[in-house]
Amino acid sequence: MTVTVKDAARRQTLTLSAQVYRGTPENLRRLARILQRGGLVAVPTETVYGLAANAFDAAACRQIFHAKRRPANDPLIVHVADLRMLARIAESNDAVTRLAHAFWPGPLTLVLPRNRVIPDVVTAGLSSVAVRMPAHPLLRRLLRLSGLPLAAPSANPFGYVSPTTAAHVRDGLGSAISHILDGGPCRHGLESTIVDVRDPRRPVLLRPGVITAEQLTRVLGVPVRVGSRRRNPAIPALAPGLMARHYSPLRPLRTHRRITAAMVARARTNEAWICFRQPDWAGAARNVFWLSTRGNVAAAGRRLFSLLRQLDHGDWTRLHAELAPANGPGLAINDRLRRAAAK
Ligand code: AMP
Ligand code: MG
Repeated sequence: MTVTVKDAARRQTLTLSAQVYRGTPENLRRLARILQRGGLVAVPTETVYGLAANAFDAAACRQIFHAKRRPANDPLIVHVADLRMLARIAESNDAVTRLAHAFWPGPLTLVLPRNRVIPDVVTAGLSSVAVRMPAHPLLRRLLRLSGLPLAAPSANPFGYVSPTTAAHVRDGLGSAISHILDGGPCRHGLESTIVDVRDPRRPVLLRPGVITAEQLTRVLGVPVRVGSRRRNPAIPALAPGLMARHYSPLRPLRTHRRITAAMVARARTNEAWICFRQPDWAGAARNVFWLSTRGNVAAAGRRLFSLLRQLDHGDWTRLHAELAPANGPGLAINDRLRRAAAK
């Protein structure tokens, strides 16, 4: 029996192993056709790798949840190439215009009132939709070639550390998906900042990222509240992706305000320590690692998930991580570390 391309795209949850594509014009055209026919493609973005499908196609988007084992109540972010596409899927307002001008294309997701063209499966039935215009050149080309908005959560099994290279995607989803576009290591390595701007006068930060609340406040001219479960009862229903435990390695992880030479000396040698910056006492210790040589926050964010994955593959019994300075994008690193460490 012959299997058509369409069948192949629909049946990718079988145990086919994923093919990794370089971003040649021919490969991009092929992957765009796969998306148009309802298939899934893992794509590079400047934040983390995403698992993309046509956001208008409910069946295709259901496959995303299936491949990731993601609960159906955790809504997806929709990626658009331009503001025309945004206008088709969401209701815009003054805050969107300002934020798009300042930060798009880039690592900022806006939660907006949704248009009905977006199926319920994408938004988990919410009346809002999360939208982002990504900056990665290969994903932008794929968005243009397909002519579609692409729903794409992180390309990893639900709850595990997000992927920042094509190899990470293959490690986690290689037997659940068929197509991975390799765009190199992600520039930021942390998921996008999410801000709810349904009411442009009362913006709420739902997830910290490299674009900070202060930056958003400066552009909007009104303070951006930091969403918390206690103060905002809508949040659990709004964003299960903001759950306490997420982004977690398999090894137990503990966070520390500061890691010192004395702490490492007291602990067992089969525990690994992740310092924020290279400590002057590290010497040749095999179990001491760092996110950045000089304490650069952007470099630290870029390395966080790949280092957690690397250590998860080693035979450490426990991981320890030092929190970043608690300001600016350091808050995004600390958010991911705390949730990775949550019980
Ligand atoms: P991921 O792409 O895996 O990092 O997850 C996307 C996250 O975006 C979800 O887990 C939610 O936290 C958030 N999100 C998506 N859609 C909405 C929405 N309509 N309202 C609030 N948050 C959303
Ligand atoms: Mg995710």
